[in-house]
Amino acid sequence: MENEITSTITIESPLEGEWKFLCPPGHHPNAFDFVKTSSNHNSTHKKRIINFLFGQIDSSDYYCWGKPVLSPVNGKVIRSCDGWKDHKYTNLWKAISIWYNATYKFRPKEKNGRLDVRPNAGNHVMIETNDGHIVFLAHLKNGSTLVKEGQRVEVGEKIGVVGNSGNSTAPHLHINIFDQMEDPYKAKVLPFVFKQYETLNKNNIWEKNNSSVPVVGSFVKFGRITNKVRLCEQSEPQSEPSVGQARRRCSALL
Ligand SMILES: [Zn+2]
Repeated sequence: MENEITSTITIESPLEGEWKFLCPPGHHPNAFDFVKTSSNHNSTHKKRIINFLFGQIDSSDYYCWGKPVLSPVNGKVIRSCDGWKDHKYTNLWKAISIWYNATYKFRPKEKNGRLDVRPNAGNHVMIETNDGHIVFLAHLKNGSTLVKEGQRVEVGEKIGVVGNSGNSTAPHLHINIFDQMEDPYKAKVLPFVFKQYETLNKNNIWEKNNSSVPVVGSFVKFGRITNKVRLCEQSEPQSEPSVGQARRRCSALL
């Protein structure tokens, strides 16, 4: 299950394990969100839907809350913006209010000579690849960013954790790639592909995919990156496998 998008920009995944791949309404078609679901893939949180409609669900009740976010590319950090509070909970009314404010009220303000987009992007990191593309990772948890501007990062390096900051109606990770950031108002959202991932097919079997983008709405699985090697696991590991073990598992899946 993969889209027919072709792009010269190939990245690794910014996440590990199983995720649902989304492009919600209002998103640029080349911008995506990841959420994590229960093992039966029925829910993104541990509560009942009635809590969302008539009560509230804490951000920490979402399966993706606090999961590591990794650099999907080798490059240089050009933005690392933290200090924006997470939404502590979600519910229908809060979601509507966040969406309304982000759509109709929020306008980026200049701060220290550049735009402060945290009311929309929340805590975020931008990484400039060696080809000059800008990878944008948004809505990170307040206080979680681990990288500094000007610092070089490598594929698989932890840069923060999934949060619920900014224009975010529930915890998730947003990713897209801009062509440049010198003039943010003119930045284009570029297509890109993931180097490798698996998707769950109709028969509930994980299928391997390369250099493509998953179908929106599908369940995807990413291996772990350790010592710059992508480890393809059949399930969440209980203990750290050696690189040799992991390579054998990877080749078994090819
Ligand atoms: Zn998004």
